[in-house]
Amino acid sequence: MLNAIDMHCHFNHGAPHDTKTNELYLCDNDFLKAERKRMGVLAMATSSFSSVLSNQEVYEENEYLYKLAQEDPFIYQWVVVDPRNEKTFEQARYMLKSEKALGLKMHPAYHGYKIMEYADKLFAFANDLGCFLLTHPENEIESSRLADKYPDMKLINAHLGIVEHVIAMENSKYGNVYTDTSGSLSYRNNVLEYAVKRVGSDKIFFGTDTYSCAFQRGRVEFADISSEDKENIFYKNAVRCFPQLQKLFKQ
Ligand SMILES: [Zn+2]
Repeated sequence: MLNAIDMHCHFNHGAPHDTKTNELYLCDNDFLKAERKRMGVLAMATSSFSSVLSNQEVYEENEYLYKLAQEDPFIYQWVVVDPRNEKTFEQARYMLKSEKALGLKMHPAYHGYKIMEYADKLFAFANDLGCFLLTHPENEIESSRLADKYPDMKLINAHLGIVEHVIAMENSKYGNVYTDTSGSLSYRNNVLEYAVKRVGSDKIFFGTDTYSCAFQRGRVEFADISSEDKENIFYKNAVRCFPQLQKLFKQ
């Protein structure tokens, strides 16, 4: 079994805006870690549900996760920024000095703004830090075109599932547009194959978005792509882009 790194996760921890769960769908970190460890997943890069489903506790939720990530070798952080909340920018600036924080995360849909209203501001900030910015996608082609203005930032349009994800990567002038496999749209039976065929595998990260890890692992493992492509997606791209992840393979 190939090892993997889950680059897109969320979790509940008894916070005000946890996602709804029941016996059939669980989101606490103990469950998520055990599930991933069974499947050769070495770490998860995450942000709390409460920090992305609402704009009310972004700062506090980032603080919570920052401490957790420092203590838990399995957990890496996406620092959530809200473009209307300057405190989250200052916070991200210091948190990204830690190797446990991989980059920034934005969620226009649940935070209640349009990506194109604030893309310039967020991309400029990420460019200044030279970091990755993981976004819930919206206007993939238009927003990714803006990434041409900011060659030092790297944009991840999450949830590969539509042709626009692929076009956005293909159009990218500096190759700084990426995607991940997370979310439910990978049920489409040729989506990953189509993307790899058209733009290759080195801009695609493995991620679950906290849907069944078994589903997502199987989707990549049994995809009609080469074993080199599978390695790229499962962990090699992540390690190349985030060299601090290399240590996961030396334990
Ligand atoms: Zn997400």
